[in-house]
Amino acid sequence: MKNIINILSEEVINQIAAGEVIQRPASIVKELIENSIDAKAKKIELIIENSGKKLVQIIDDGIGMTENDAQICFQKHTTSKIKETNDIMHINTMGFRGEALASIGSIAEVELKTKTHNDKIGTLINIDNSKIKKNKKIATAKGTSISVKNLFFNIPARKNFLKSDSIETKHILESFTQLAIAHYQIEFKFINNGKIIHNLSATNLKQRIVQLFGKKYKEKILPIQEQTSIVKVHGFVGNPLDARKTRGEQFLYVNNRFIKSSYLNHAIKNAMSNMIHPDQHPSYFIFLEINPSDIDINIHPNKIEVKFEDEKAIYQILKSTCKKSIGMYNITPSLDFSIEEAFEIPIDIQKSHPKEPKLKINTNFNPFKEDDLNRKKSAKIIQDMFIDKPQHFVENSMNIDHKYALFTILVNNKRILNIMDKKQAFERVVYEKNYKLLKEQKRACQKLIHPYNITINPLDIELLKENLNIIESLGYQIDEIKNNLVVINGIPAGLEGQNNQELFEFFLEELKNNDDDILDKIINKIATQSAFYASKNNNKFHLAEEYDLKRFINNLLNCKMPFMGIHGKPCVINIEPNIFFN
Ligand code: ADP
Ligand code: MG
Repeated sequence: MKNIINILSEEVINQIAAGEVIQRPASIVKELIENSIDAKAKKIELIIENSGKKLVQIIDDGIGMTENDAQICFQKHTTSKIKETNDIMHINTMGFRGEALASIGSIAEVELKTKTHNDKIGTLINIDNSKIKKNKKIATAKGTSISVKNLFFNIPARKNFLKSDSIETKHILESFTQLAIAHYQIEFKFINNGKIIHNLSATNLKQRIVQLFGKKYKEKILPIQEQTSIVKVHGFVGNPLDARKTRGEQFLYVNNRFIKSSYLNHAIKNAMSNMIHPDQHPSYFIFLEINPSDIDINIHPNKIEVKFEDEKAIYQILKSTCKKSIGMYNITPSLDFSIEEAFEIPIDIQKSHPKEPKLKINTNFNPFKEDDLNRKKSAKIIQDMFIDKPQHFVENSMNIDHKYALFTILVNNKRILNIMDKKQAFERVVYEKNYKLLKEQKRACQKLIHPYNITINPLDIELLKENLNIIESLGYQIDEIKNNLVVINGIPAGLEGQNNQELFEFFLEELKNNDDDILDKIINKIATQSAFYASKNNNKFHLAEEYDLKRFINNLLNCKMPFMGIHGKPCVINIEPNIFFN
């Protein structure tokens, strides 16, 4: 037989390798901006034409390259960022594999202009198919400019694989935005087909978010901050009230690198359960700092997923941190929102990390301080309203009809008028009461004269048996489990009339999912169900005279989230005092 094995040419090897690093114009944008960041640029300009297919240019004012460095930077495995394997452990630059420029040089026409701080004259280099085509001295500004033209000109198959201009531009904007958020101290400019898309001055994180997404974000985001022995968290979460149906602005960073994690996304969403509808998505801009030895840094340039050593603990901490922030700054007024309760680090995590999470709470923090006066006033009023005992506050109340009631509260000698949706409010009160009781496991068991029988398939029966203690801790009493029959002799007091079959099926589903929030989810479910059941079977709020409306409103105001029905719709709307009572 003939020999059939070929040694691939350098050119082919480069092109194949390039396929991993450079998939589309946005990959070039990411690599080149990261290089500029590594080069300590204070100002980075991105210019694209035809969604980057025709041109991607990055101009920076960073440290630049000497003529010699400029000549070799397009060769494979050339980097100034590491020398030996050990260096990888202490890496704090964005890149270090020395692949990006070599890859780009093999699949596009590249022009490099660069000058260092010390040099009087700069260097111009043209690269074509990985080869230096031109190399001369030129006058140029300090820093580096790299133009990448005619992407994939020499690999038509890859070129055809590119998507429409609008999709490729969207990818570029995404990459640009991801980097611009994390590097808010750098000035960025983005020009698309001659039009300025962004012109961002150096600033802080919050202002950068506002620069990128508009002024309305000033009011929309709440600061978060936490420091524990395994992770430091900071950033902003969107007000759950503004959660959107379409996936909004979701930016998560680990050690200042953008990552995607559906698991951690879930933690953030979970922190807002009962405030946002299941198919709404919260916005967030969150930075995690983790000891590099506790994560599997994925050094593949295009992978944006990360493996954490302590994934579950990070999930819980992230969830609690978001929950706490939402509670402290916004929906939940500060009264009655004890930190311990909000910060539910599970016992087992505390055990495995004996160092207790440090709670740094700036109680003087006023998230609204930068906002306009009205917003500030009403936020202050709402906060004050809950600092005193609400009993003293409800002044007047009246039923409008079976659905609505009005009430006024007196805060700082100002009367605030509120409109309440009674059904929603009622559900909120019942939900919170039951949630609290279940959580504290104070829910007494109510014995049943006629036990309920539910049927469960034999495979699930085993699961149920294994987890009987969880179910019983909530107030259920199960005396008999036979084949596929479960006899319920007692239920949590006050939860009569539930559809137990459905509830148990839900429990089993959750047990199968086997995540660490099982108990919380089950409690949440029971509390939600019981609230529905109670409101369905309660006609109290239909009876204007008999029902003690005032007392009910006080109960509502004692809730953690008095303004929000349990499905995310408001249950109380207050009317700006300056409109009505000036
Ligand atoms: P890496 O970033 O992994 O080191 P690259 O191929 O992206 O590899 O870049 C190779 C080298 O070229 C870098 O290590 C750096 O020394 C130099 N370089 C690239 N871009 C710039 C820039 N904008 N300013 C200064 N030096 C740069
Ligand atoms: Mg690089």
